Amino acid sequence: MSYDVVVIGAGPGGYVCAIKAAQLGLKTAVVEKRSTPGGTCINIGCIPSKALLHASEMFAEAGHKFAELGIQVEPKLDLARMLAHKDATVDSNVKGLQFLFKKNKIDWIQGTGSILGEGKVRVEAEGGESRELEARNIVIATGSVVAGIPGVEVEFDEKVIVSSTGALELEKVPGHLVVVGGGVIGLELGSVWARLGAKVTVVEYLDTILGGMDGEVAKQFQRMLGKQGMEFRLGAKVTDVARSDGGARVTFEPVKGGDADTIEADVVLVATGRKSYVGGLGHEAAGIALDDRGRVQVDDHYRTSVAGIYAIGDVIAGPMLAHKAEDEGVAVAEIIAGQAGHVNYGVIPSVVYTSPEVASVGRTEEELKRDGVDYKVGKFPFSANGRARAMLQTDGFVKVLADAKSDRLLGVHIVGFGAGEMIHEAAVVMEFGGSSEDMARTCHAHPTMSEAVKEAALATFFKPLHL
Ligand SMILES: Cc1cc2nc3c(=O)[nH]c(=O)nc-3n(C[C@H](O)[C@H](O)[C@H](O)COP(=O)(O)OP(=O)(O)OC[C@H]3O[C@@H](n4cnc5c(N)ncnc54)[C@H](O)[C@@H]3O)c2cc1C
Repeated sequence: MSYDVVVIGAGPGGYVCAIKAAQLGLKTAVVEKRSTPGGTCINIGCIPSKALLHASEMFAEAGHKFAELGIQVEPKLDLARMLAHKDATVDSNVKGLQFLFKKNKIDWIQGTGSILGEGKVRVEAEGGESRELEARNIVIATGSVVAGIPGVEVEFDEKVIVSSTGALELEKVPGHLVVVGGGVIGLELGSVWARLGAKVTVVEYLDTILGGMDGEVAKQFQRMLGKQGMEFRLGAKVTDVARSDGGARVTFEPVKGGDADTIEADVVLVATGRKSYVGGLGHEAAGIALDDRGRVQVDDHYRTSVAGIYAIGDVIAGPMLAHKAEDEGVAVAEIIAGQAGHVNYGVIPSVVYTSPEVASVGRTEEELKRDGVDYKVGKFPFSANGRARAMLQTDGFVKVLADAKSDRLLGVHIVGFGAGEMIHEAAVVMEFGGSSEDMARTCHAHPTMSEAVKEAALATFFKPLHL
């Protein structure tokens, strides 16, 4: 069979690329080794985690906030039902994708794809059957897998010592969950189980959680999670994770030196990041170069070292985010179709879907300082926002960073209810090269949480009104 585009991997990078390519009139196939499309994101990542985050947040709200709103309930956990909601959410997203493949006349080919060289892909199905596809263009979108802890052998059984995949389907709420890694995935899944009743301890190598996020935001956020009962052991290097009687044991030592410590846990979640995946792809034989971190090397048009072969998503450099993969999928389809595909890496929002949410776009204050940029800051707390008070969602604040001279918006960081939705107005302003004054002078509906964004923008070049 001969195609204009064969995409290997049906995650958000690959499936979006296939849909866009088909919309642009290119004959397209997707090769995927899983039985369902959607990749990490839909099957074991973004979507199931958000289903559990939402359900557990509702459970916690019912237990802690409803009474203050005049609603008397005694929530009772039905974990099996909550997990069934998560599975049903995944299933409906998978079905939606299967429909989109059909609608766009994309051939779905199940099996492991390997590249035989320019324009040739072999697909091996699980039963051992294999077939060859001819492709004018090949797009590698094979994503990433769990990275583990550098220098530590971890035996995942996905019951007691789990990765994010096992943490999405624990059969009962653990008494004590130890999370190794204070990044987005660890904090989100830690939050799920903490809200359902687990004691959660986060062990993190760095001196801060959410390394790379704005420092002020990360600090405040840690305090909020602390109030929710989460405990933190920062600056701690994990040296061993092993099964023990009835659970598992995590051993760590201070990064700065000192005595080792051990915590016993019912379940240990290792959430120390992910690494690019090229297993079974045959990249070496095909002459496709990787960078020093094992990622497929591409130029600024997503071209690999072999003509006609492109790569996108988690398998290449950049933030491991579904929307970054999707945008690259669109860009590469456009490039293949002869258009000017492009991704603006300066404006990729990132969101932590905890309660409250954390969202940011653009540069952090630390980055601006490091780069010697002359900037100004505007802040506004949700405690001074009417809608936030009405919803008992006053935790958090908005922080706006703008160029000191031009007022051009450089970064926006939000901790608060709905931060993941609010961040996009900042993203749009930044995409258009706008200023904090542009954002502040845009009429915002009242009463909304978004008025805090407007107020923080006002504070950046003048004064907020409601503070
Ligand atoms: C628990 C968790 C929560 C997350 N939450 C979020 C979130 O809220 N927001 C967000 O933006 N990101 C989130 N992510 C990250 C997000 O899932 C990834 O960034 C995204 O899935 C990357 O997309 P991709 O298409 O590059 O790769 P993937 O989604 O990893 O897809 C790659 C696909 O390629 C297939 N494949 C690999 N090799 C082959 C081969 N040789 N032949 C055929 N098929 C192959 C794999 O089976 C897989 O289906 C989360 C991740 C996890 C683990």
